[in-house]
Amino acid sequence: MSELYPDCDPYGTADRLTEAERAPILRLRAVLENEIKPLVAEYWEKGEFPYQIAPSLYGLNLMTPDEIDGAPRSLYHGFRIFELARTDASMATFYTAQAGLFRTTCRVGASPEQFAELDPKITSFETKGVFCLTEPDHGSDIAGGLASTAERQGDEWIINGAKRWIGGAFTADYLAVFARDVADGQVKAFLVDRERPV
Ligand SMILES: Cc1cc2nc3c(=O)[nH]c(=O)nc-3n(C[C@H](O)[C@H](O)[C@H](O)COP(=O)(O)OP(=O)(O)OC[C@H]3O[C@@H](n4cnc5c(N)ncnc54)[C@H](O)[C@@H]3O)c2cc1C
Repeated sequence: MSELYPDCDPYGTADRLTEAERAPILRLRAVLENEIKPLVAEYWEKGEFPYQIAPSLYGLNLMTPDEIDGAPRSLYHGFRIFELARTDASMATFYTAQAGLFRTTCRVGASPEQFAELDPKITSFETKGVFCLTEPDHGSDIAGGLASTAERQGDEWIINGAKRWIGGAFTADYLAVFARDVADGQVKAFLVDRERPV
């Protein structure tokens, strides 16, 4: 089996991937090499994101690849991000906002019934979401410092605060917004329709 990363994997970690786990990584590599790599320098210089690449990435089914039986291992997910990032860090952010941050938030926070309904739409990108944790005044210290608040008023939640550095926010359908419930002080996640008026 040839090495996936002969120049930058001195401990041979990628050798621990199975053939089934390597296959989607190699499908991703082909799209990155042929369709994405030729664009990234130009778009970096323009300060824009090449959204035309999205259908090619979405179509790869990298979250639940056909080649892998059951839920993919963390090792596979790690190399999926690594493969994206070695071509362009923006591609890793763009894909991982949905595949890692948003999907995990829904998996952990939703009921099993809600997640069963949401997950096929997340993995197919029919529903796009992002993860809104960081704030203008809180980055590394967010665990203790999160300042956005959520207050239950009747059947509604009122969320107050500001977020910053939210990868993919402009194209998302839903924002997973983290805010502190004023009633019990607990941090909770709320799925907010991006087009909902503020
Ligand atoms: C490309 C990109 C995409 C992102 N996407 C998202 C996203 O989708 N959703 C989201 O919520 N956030 C996102 N972020 C935000 C990211 O999570 C924050 O940048 C991160 O939490 C760090 O916060 P900060 O930038 O405010 O840096 P700061 O917390 O201000 O840290 C600045 C520096 O100080 C150091 N530092 C901080 N505290 C200490 C300490 N106690 N002791 C020693 N050193 C310390 C840090 O290591 C760092 O070097 C994204 C950031 C980037 C760059």
